[in-house]
Amino acid sequence: MKIGTPKEVFEGEARVAMTPESALQLQKLGYDCLIEAGAGKAAGFTDAAYKEAGVTVVRGAVNLWKESDVITKVRPPTKTEERRLTKGKTLISFYFPGQNEELMELAAEKGATVIAMDMVPRISRAQKMDALSSMANIAGYRAVIEAGNNFGRFFTGQVTAAGKVPPAKVLVVGAGVAGLAAIGTAVSLGAIVYAFDVRPEVAEQIESMGAEFVYLDFEDEVQDGAATGGYAAPSSPEFREKQLEKFRELAPDMDIVITTALIPGRDAPKLWTRDMVEMMKPGSVIVDLAAERGGNCDLTVMDEKVVSKNGVTIIGYTDFPSRMATQSSTLYANNIRHMMDDLTPEKDGKIVHDMEDDVIRGATAVFKGKVTFPPPPPKVQ
Ligand code: NAD
Repeated sequence: MKIGTPKEVFEGEARVAMTPESALQLQKLGYDCLIEAGAGKAAGFTDAAYKEAGVTVVRGAVNLWKESDVITKVRPPTKTEERRLTKGKTLISFYFPGQNEELMELAAEKGATVIAMDMVPRISRAQKMDALSSMANIAGYRAVIEAGNNFGRFFTGQVTAAGKVPPAKVLVVGAGVAGLAAIGTAVSLGAIVYAFDVRPEVAEQIESMGAEFVYLDFEDEVQDGAATGGYAAPSSPEFREKQLEKFRELAPDMDIVITTALIPGRDAPKLWTRDMVEMMKPGSVIVDLAAERGGNCDLTVMDEKVVSKNGVTIIGYTDFPSRMATQSSTLYANNIRHMMDDLTPEKDGKIVHDMEDDVIRGATAVFKGKVTFPPPPPKVQ
């Protein structure tokens, strides 16, 4: 079978779903690999590098989709792209089926199969295919780099002949995959890092990374992450008040705030309010990684960088992985390669789409012309 990757059509998207390296691995599984001419350019992969890795470079998206049995891409397809998904073809991509019902119906009408990379169950066995985590990790790292780029001082403290420099103070709100990556990056740059999460089980991880967990003076609420499958649940109004009170106490002292707080299926909770921004020192920076879901900060504008009246920069970009396209393409292409590995038990270049397999079933949004979303809950944790 042939696996092909088109050039991404979403404006500004620099990632690509196949790299020369992942193509070598896919060929070991018995597949022929195709790439649309120029598809890897923005991520730093030339057509020549693909050719050298044994990939056939195809001119034009129409030809690429036509010649491929399996199409791998990053962004959910446009309708024009999906119309090229004819009977028997399999699409593997970020797809967000819950928000893209029309696309799912269209793929089903066509008799195609769709594997949504964002639906890979978050169980240990599937970590190698967990593209949401690999992208969140990059976003967390890049948030710190972006903050540094907009901050007028060092992260690390220094004693120099010209004077003593205090270390920057960084607060990370939300210590999931992205938050932990931001903590690791800020600590490694020498900042003093504080972090808060509603899930108390992350305190140990935060502290083991060299940051300080911010505790609240609050005992009434049981913050039980296990009850929600490891994810956060909305906080009670009393807990939220305590949390905001703590943040108000910290705001004047923090140089950089990185917010990543999300609750599955909801708008981002508003945690960094206008008055907290007003309490911060001029030159401070906020990076809001929850911007796409409405933002954790009152002043965030999605996809923009704004400066408050008191001189605080607030960054609401939503394309952090694309800003590091070489890295993100490499990890995403590896996630896909691992998915193909599981889909190819005989390593003979033929897909065996086993709907009894929890991971494959969980990620399959459309199967041979039938919508199969939402999947049943996974049997194994
Ligand atoms: P996420 O992006 O949904 O949320 C980010 C963080 O925000 C979470 O840690 C959450 O607790 C926190 N948060 C929510 N409301 C908050 C508030 N009011 N104040 C402060 N923080 C708040 O989370 P994620 O990074 O996708 O992962 C979260 C969970 O999923 C963790 O338990 C993680 O271990 C688990 N996970 C498992 C796998 C796997 O096993 N394959 C992979 C990734 C993540």
